[in-house]
Amino acid sequence: MKKLLIPVFSVFLLLSCETRNVSNTLQNSNLTESNIKGDKAFLSAYKMINADELKKNLYVIASDEMEGRDTGSKGQKKAGEYIINYYKNLKISYPKGLDSYYQKVPSEYMKKKGGETLPDSENILAFIEGSEKPDEIVVVSAHYDHVGIKKGVIYNGADDDGSGTVAVMEIAKAFQKAKQEGKGPKRSILFLHVTGEEHGLFGSEYYTDYPVFPLANTVADLNIDMIGRDDPENRGKQYVYVIGSDMLSSQLKIINETSNKRTNNLELNYKYDDPNDSQRLYYRSDHYNFAKNNVPVAFFFDGIHEDYHKPTDDVDKIDYLLLEKRTQLIFATAWELANRHDRIVIDKN
Ligand SMILES: [Zn+2]
Repeated sequence: MKKLLIPVFSVFLLLSCETRNVSNTLQNSNLTESNIKGDKAFLSAYKMINADELKKNLYVIASDEMEGRDTGSKGQKKAGEYIINYYKNLKISYPKGLDSYYQKVPSEYMKKKGGETLPDSENILAFIEGSEKPDEIVVVSAHYDHVGIKKGVIYNGADDDGSGTVAVMEIAKAFQKAKQEGKGPKRSILFLHVTGEEHGLFGSEYYTDYPVFPLANTVADLNIDMIGRDDPENRGKQYVYVIGSDMLSSQLKIINETSNKRTNNLELNYKYDDPNDSQRLYYRSDHYNFAKNNVPVAFFFDGIHEDYHKPTDDVDKIDYLLLEKRTQLIFATAWELANRHDRIVIDKN
């Protein structure tokens, strides 16, 4: 999650933001059509997502060895190699048309966008091709960079965004399991690990400037940035903040809510689901680059907690069971987006 950089005066102007809460009743039963047929396959894949494996991967991704994964650093590249080896072991390849899992994000590009000189870096792309509509793409994204080392102290970024990184990996594993059992997704799924988020959402901006698949064929982006903790307002609760899910497509919000009801029934908190909210979260992670290109998005987030962007954002503070439940929700939503008969439509602007 990128830091908030807005002039102080506008904070005062916007401070009176109101809290919006859930409750959208779900009436349209055919929104879950694909799951009726695919229930068995769905359940066996869904059960693959578990806290132990999320933990195992996170203990590597957010270890000191990765040196806080700053964009283009040695530590980030090492984390990237771990991610790629994970996909290789699962026999999940990269998109056709690329010659590896990497999409290079050049230093010059990031300098032009943000004025900072950063080393060349890479997005990492893993891909499962759809069985019926391979040209329609569902993106599941998370950034794997963090803020590196400052004054000799490593910022491990276990929640930000180690949690999203391992969630994407786990969701990929579940889809691959279904595919191996003959129930691969009908649409294609791109597992997108972006770089340069903390410096300015550069990896996702690069991807949407130079998409590997046409954005017009991109059904939605489910973006995961910090889902392993709780914030002071929600201590101990089973919840997740959802942002942006009905900004472009009302169906996406309904599908996410339906998927939630049939899985862990978390409290879906829409407090920040407003582009004018003072925290401006709609603009602060990688989904925004998809949304601005008219691709429907849903952003999953746990809130601003006391270790946000501190060296204490560590693996021992993650609630792994909550991370598991949130990951299962996102998997269920991706499953529906990928398998339903009709692609979701854009009905808002
Ligand atoms: Zn961050």
